[in-house]
Amino acid sequence: RIAYVNGRFVPHGQASVHIEDRGYQLGDGVYEVWAIFSGKLADAEGHFARLERSLSELRIAMPMSRRALTLVLREAVRRNRVTEGLAYLQVTRGVAKRDHAFPNPPVPPSVVITVNRTDRAAADARAAAGVGVVTTPENRWGRCDIKTVNLLPNALAKQKAREAGAVEAWFVDDLGFVTEGASSNAWIVDRDGRLRTRDTNANILRGVTRNTLLEVIRGEGLDVDERPFTPDDALAAREAFITGAGSLVLPVVSVDGKPIANGVPGPVAMRLRRLYIDRAKETAI
Ligand code: PLP
Repeated sequence: RIAYVNGRFVPHGQASVHIEDRGYQLGDGVYEVWAIFSGKLADAEGHFARLERSLSELRIAMPMSRRALTLVLREAVRRNRVTEGLAYLQVTRGVAKRDHAFPNPPVPPSVVITVNRTDRAAADARAAAGVGVVTTPENRWGRCDIKTVNLLPNALAKQKAREAGAVEAWFVDDLGFVTEGASSNAWIVDRDGRLRTRDTNANILRGVTRNTLLEVIRGEGLDVDERPFTPDDALAAREAFITGAGSLVLPVVSVDGKPIANGVPGPVAMRLRRLYIDRAKETAI
């Protein structure tokens, strides 16, 4: 495997950043993840736009133009001979003597890219079986709209899910509403057959997959409410699913061990998965 580190492609096993990188010391950095279809970046523009926004919220300069970044990402994909998978990009504020405040003058941001292969047949089989989620109290900070590398609450939540035999954890806020998953956005098809997902004015990540799927849904003439739901709403729903660059559209069949409807993936989720994948393949660059 080959990684990209600050302008160089290096063997993955030898790829490293300095111990005083602010990403390592302070979690002072952001990341993006693109699904790769046929060696191309899915939803490229949406992920670039969010990367630029995350960086600007942290006042880190964009390390290179979108165009240059596209070329480097695609070269990383090519060098790893990955056709189906995920590309991971991390940008931190850079390497500087440890101090919470920003280095002055600024240092060059650190840029790292890794690429991983996905077994699409296995992923499709998992989607066809559906996955379980567990709920966990929302305990993250107030800027979940920024895709930062500070993923400790997400990591702990995901571990809780894994230990319960589930695949995702849904954070639940003080009012009892699901905010989002540890690495995905959460959706239901309610009892009346309406799609529902939480609005992005809430403290959640504005999922790029979520956004594209909203376009797909509207293009299909389906109804969708951008409104929160509770775990009980999900248990009373016809269907549930999650979206993200990693999961694409993935049916959810249980919450905290209790089945949703008859405990198998619903037709709407499966159809939206197909439609999303078709669209992502068509528009990948
Ligand atoms: N919410 C969180 C917390 C995430 O980490 C992710 C990442 O995949 C998502 C939602 C989904 O975002 P996207 O569809 O842009 O991958």
